[in-house]
Amino acid sequence: MVKKPENFRKKGDVWIEWKGKGSFGAMKHPIYLDSAATTALSPEALEAMMPYLTESFGNPSSIYSMGRSTRVAIEMARKTVARTLGVKPMSIFFTSCGTESNNTAILSAIRDLGCTSIITSPIEHHAVLHTAEHYSRQYSLPLDLVALDEEGVVDYADLEQKLKQHQADGRKPLVSLMYANNEIGSLLDIQRVGLLCRLYGAIFHSDCVQAVAHYPINLSESFVHFISASGHKFHGPKGVGMLYVNPSLEIAPLIHGGSQERNMRAGTENVYGIVGFARALELAMEAYEADSRYIAGLRGLMRGLLVQHLPGVRFNGPEQGLYTVLSVCFPRSARSESLLMELDQAGICVSGGSACSSGEAGGSHVIRALANRDGCTTVRFSFCKYNTAEEIEYTVNFLKSVFSPEKAGVEA
Ligand code: PLP
Repeated sequence: MVKKPENFRKKGDVWIEWKGKGSFGAMKHPIYLDSAATTALSPEALEAMMPYLTESFGNPSSIYSMGRSTRVAIEMARKTVARTLGVKPMSIFFTSCGTESNNTAILSAIRDLGCTSIITSPIEHHAVLHTAEHYSRQYSLPLDLVALDEEGVVDYADLEQKLKQHQADGRKPLVSLMYANNEIGSLLDIQRVGLLCRLYGAIFHSDCVQAVAHYPINLSESFVHFISASGHKFHGPKGVGMLYVNPSLEIAPLIHGGSQERNMRAGTENVYGIVGFARALELAMEAYEADSRYIAGLRGLMRGLLVQHLPGVRFNGPEQGLYTVLSVCFPRSARSESLLMELDQAGICVSGGSACSSGEAGGSHVIRALANRDGCTTVRFSFCKYNTAEEIEYTVNFLKSVFSPEKAGVEA
C-alpha cells in the first residue's frame, strides 16, 4: 500500500507540496544547503567586479593610467578589508584562496619566525592539517594535537598544558587553531588563545575562513599573528583569499616572482576577485545583525523540526555554535547509507562533511575525532541569507519521508 506524505504548507498562493521521490511540487530547486562549501556570488559583489572583468582590464603593475586605476581599486579594497578587521591596510595580503593563506602562514611561522613545534587540532580543515603535517615532516618538528571536548571545542587547559610543555622543552610553538569549524560549527575563543600564545611565546595562526564576514572580528584587540579568509564563503568570488599578517612580523613569500603585494605574493593580481572580496565583506558586515539573526533562525528551525519529527537524531558540535552550520547525526539504518544520494536526487544540496574531504576514506576526519559518534550517518546542512524557512521545512519533510517506516512502499 503506497502512503504519500501529506501537503504541509501554502506559501502565498503557492502550495509547497510533496509528491513523492523525484518530484518536487512547487518548490524552486535545487535547494542549496551547503553554504559552508561555497556560496553564490551576490549581485552586489558582481556589480562591483564587472568593470574589472570588462573595460578596466589594465595590469595593476602598468604605469599608464589604465594600470594605475586597477592598482587604485586593489588599494581601496585593501583599505575596506583592513577597516572591517580593525587593522592597518599594510597588514592585509590578497592571495588566491584560504588554502594558500593557511600555507603561507604555516610555512612562514616555521621558516621565518623560528617556530620549532606545531600545536593544532584534529578537526582543522585539511588546508591546515595536511600543511602542518607536511612541514612538520619536512622540518622534523613535533606536531601536537590539542584535546577537544565532546562537541569539538578546544580544551583550553590542555592547550595551556601543551604550551607549557613545549616551552619547558625549549621549543617555540606555532599554534594553528580555527575560529569556526566548517563541519560541526564549534567555535574558538581567539582572544583567550591569543593571550595564552602571548604568555608562552607562541606564534598564533587562526584559519578564519568560516568566520570572516560571519562575525565582527576586531584584530586590533586580539593577540593573533595570522588569520586566513576566503571570498567564496561569504558571497564573494572564488579564487581570492586574504592573509592578515601582524605588522610586527617579517616574513618571506610562499610564491616567488614579481613584486606584487609588496613582495609578499607574486603574480598579477586577481583585480576583480579582490574587488569582489572587499565588496562582499563590506556588505556582510553592514547587514551582520539582521542576516546573522535570520540565518540563526533557519538553523534553529531545522534543529527543532528534526528533533520533533525524527526520533534518535543527534547533532555534532555545540548548540550555540557557528550559526551557519548544523551537523546532523542520523541513526544508521539501511536508508541512511544512501541518504546523501537521495537528498541529491531530490534536488537538495548538502555535504557529508567538508566539500574538500568528500572523497576521504573512512568518512570525515572531523567526525572521527569526536567521541561517541559511532552508529550514525552525518549530514552537514549549512545556510545563508538566500535560504528560506520553506526550504528548511521541505527538506525536513523529505527527511521524514526517507526515514518513515512506510518509505519502502512509496512509489518512485
Ligand atoms: N579552511 C576552512 C575552515 C574551510 O572551510 C575552507 C574551505 O572549505 C578552507 C580553509 C579552504 O578555503 P579555500 O577553498 O578558499 O581554499
